[in-house]
Amino acid sequence: MNVTAFPVENIPLIKPGDDIAHLLCERTKVKEHDIVVISSTIVSKSEGRIISLDNIKPTERANIIAQRNNIEPGFVQAVLDQSTEVLLESPFLLVKIRNGSICVNAGVDHSNVEGSNNIVLLPEDPDKSALELKKNLFQYTGKTVSVIITDTNGRAFRMGQTGAALGCAGIKPLRDWRGTKDLFGRVLEVKNEAVVDEIAGFANVLMGEGDGGTPIVIFRGMGLYGESYGIQELYRPEKEDVIRSAIIRSQSI
Ligand code: GDP
Ligand code: MN
Ligand code: MN
Repeated sequence: MNVTAFPVENIPLIKPGDDIAHLLCERTKVKEHDIVVISSTIVSKSEGRIISLDNIKPTERANIIAQRNNIEPGFVQAVLDQSTEVLLESPFLLVKIRNGSICVNAGVDHSNVEGSNNIVLLPEDPDKSALELKKNLFQYTGKTVSVIITDTNGRAFRMGQTGAALGCAGIKPLRDWRGTKDLFGRVLEVKNEAVVDEIAGFANVLMGEGDGGTPIVIFRGMGLYGESYGIQELYRPEKEDVIRSAIIRSQSI
C-alpha cells in the first residue's frame, strides 16, 4: 500500500458563491478514488455562512450564559440559534447541532474569518455539502472521489484539539472489523474503526489552524472508497450514550 497525502496550494480566500470543486480542479488533478478532505470553514464561506455579531440580538438567556462564561452575548446567541439541544451551558456551551454532531460552541468560530466582528457557522448540512462537492468533482473531472468535510474539535478526557469529520460522501464513516480475526486467530468483537475521523485528524495536521491557507488535503491510495449514507452512523444513538446522559443528569441536580 502506497499512500500519499498533500495539501492543495494557492487556494484563494473563499467568498460566498465560490465553486470549491472548480477552484480545486484548476490547481490539481484528482485521481479515481482520491479522498478529498475539505475544511468546514471554507465550505461555510462558500455557502455564505458568515454572520456579523453586530446583527445579533441576544436574548436574556444568552446574556446570562455570556456573563457566566465570560464571552460575548451575540456569540452565545449565535451558538444557541445553531443548536437543537444544549447539554452544558457552563463553563462552556456543549450543544447538539442539526446534523446530530455534539460539539462545543456549535462549531461557531471567529478564526480565519475576515472582519473583526464576523463569525463563521458550520455548514447547514455537511453531508449534503460533501455529496455536492463529490458530484461537482465528477462533473468537472470524470473522477469518482470521496469527500470528507472536517472541523477542528476538542475532545473529552484529553487535552488538545484534532480534526474530526463533520460530513462525508463516497466513504463509509466506519470500518467494521467485528467478526474478523486478529494475528492469533481471536475473533474481534467490538472494533469498529472511525476511519473518517482518523483521516480528518491527519488532514488537520497538514491544514494547520492558522494562516497556512491550506484548507484542502488530498489522500491517494487509501483504498477506502465506498458508497455511504454520510456521517450519521458515527453518532452514538442517544439510548446508548452514557456520557451524554451523565452530563444531562449532572445539569438537573
Ligand atoms: P476549520 O478547522 O474548518 O475550523 O478551519 P480553520 O480555521 O482551522 O482553517 C483550516 C485551514 O484552512 C488553515 O490552513 C486556514 O489557513 C485555511 N483557511 C481558512 N479559510 C480559508 C480561505 O478562505 N482560503 C484559504 N486558502 N485557506 C483558508
Ligand atoms: Mn472550525
Ligand atoms: Mn481548524
